[in-house]
Amino acid sequence: MKLSRRKCLIWVASLPLVPFASQPVQAAFPALSEQHRQARLYRYRKDARRVRHPRYIGGQQCLNCDRFRTLDAWCSLFPEYSVSPSGWCDQWQLKSGTHLHSPSAISPASDSGGYIPLNSIRQNNE
Ligand code: SF4
Repeated sequence: MKLSRRKCLIWVASLPLVPFASQPVQAAFPALSEQHRQARLYRYRKDARRVRHPRYIGGQQCLNCDRFRTLDAWCSLFPEYSVSPSGWCDQWQLKSGTHLHSPSAISPASDSGGYIPLNSIRQNNE
């Protein structure tokens, strides 16, 4: 196989970008503190496994919340901050096109403490 000079230059020029291709984008905003006034109002927790709230169902977390933007961990409720992907607050809404796929999702008292791993949350079209 013969590489043209142009293709070779493009390939070499793209090498510095490779380490960033698999990295999540850094949050552009400061991390939301659990002590923030509005965060306390909505019972925000950085780690959903610590949540003890009547509305919480295992598997719910910011990552599968409709208000969460994965690209930069942004939540529409707290637009000046980034939230933890594994966090939770009482305004959680299931991201459209997804569902909580595990039986533990309806049993917070399961062995896993009501927390299910991200890979058990499936897209509806799978
Ligand atoms: S609204 Fe959703 S994304 Fe925002 S903090 Fe609450 S659970 Fe997380």
